[in-house]
Amino acid sequence: MTDDLVFNSLLIGVFASALLTVLVLLFVNAPYGRHQSSGWGPTIPVRLGWVLMESPASLVFLYCYFSGARAFELAPMILLVLWQLHYLHRSFIYPFQIKVKPGARTTVLVIALGALYCGINGYLNGTYITHYGTHLNRDWLSDPRFVIGVGLFGFGYYLNKKSDHMLQALRQQRPGEYQIPYGFGFRWVSMPNYLGEIITWSGFALASWSLAGLSFVVFTMANLVPRALANHRWYRETFTDYPKDRRAVIPYIL
Ligand code: NDP
Repeated sequence: MTDDLVFNSLLIGVFASALLTVLVLLFVNAPYGRHQSSGWGPTIPVRLGWVLMESPASLVFLYCYFSGARAFELAPMILLVLWQLHYLHRSFIYPFQIKVKPGARTTVLVIALGALYCGINGYLNGTYITHYGTHLNRDWLSDPRFVIGVGLFGFGYYLNKKSDHMLQALRQQRPGEYQIPYGFGFRWVSMPNYLGEIITWSGFALASWSLAGLSFVVFTMANLVPRALANHRWYRETFTDYPKDRRAVIPYIL
């Protein structure tokens, strides 16, 4: 198979699996976190699971990025920094920030599927940026798509990280318990961390103006929107005093 055929086949594969993912996740909750349940096969410690699942996105991206001809041009380098800002944190810092119950475990199946997707995603975006993305030159730095995309990435990153941090602060207050989060993005939606993640990668897709970036946003939404709806339902069923005007993931809409 030629490199182009591999790239295009995987790209189409990601769009197709996003469709499959949304259809499955509308009916089945991925077994981790508040929806952890037995009967899904072997489990491993939660922190190890996060590292194994997320690190391929960082490492495969790095390898593919530096295999391309334009690795040392400015626009690709900015995209590299954005990607790694998120993924170095998510792979190697976030797993050690979360407060987990001693002995807490997560499902190997979820980790294996997540790691497979993260590796493919790292390959598609790392390869695109320094190999196929010939428009990512000096002029691109002043293109509105790049400027707005980087701004959106920054906004989404802040929303995602601050929301995750607030949840961990609740966990620290009452270890092992779930509480109703209040303030910041929680004022509008149950899952502002997911909203932040979707905005982050929409910004990246705009800034790189690529189908690889678009495939990531579509897959992220396929994964996180059904989960946000399930978590929102769970909050409403669990807490009788849950704020009635709060939506799941998109303020005022969904
Ligand atoms: P959750 O919001 O479900 O959980 C985040 C952390 O906060 C967990 O440690 C959880 O504990 C704890 N927590 C959640 N709600 C409460 C609460 N009400 N009170 C106290 N503690 C709480 O997020 P996920 O674990 O699904 O995702 C974590 C991060 O990973 C997010 O930033 C998300 O955007 C990102 N992500 C990205 C994906 C993608 O496709 N790009 C896919 C999945 C996640 P516990 O684990 O015990 O529930």
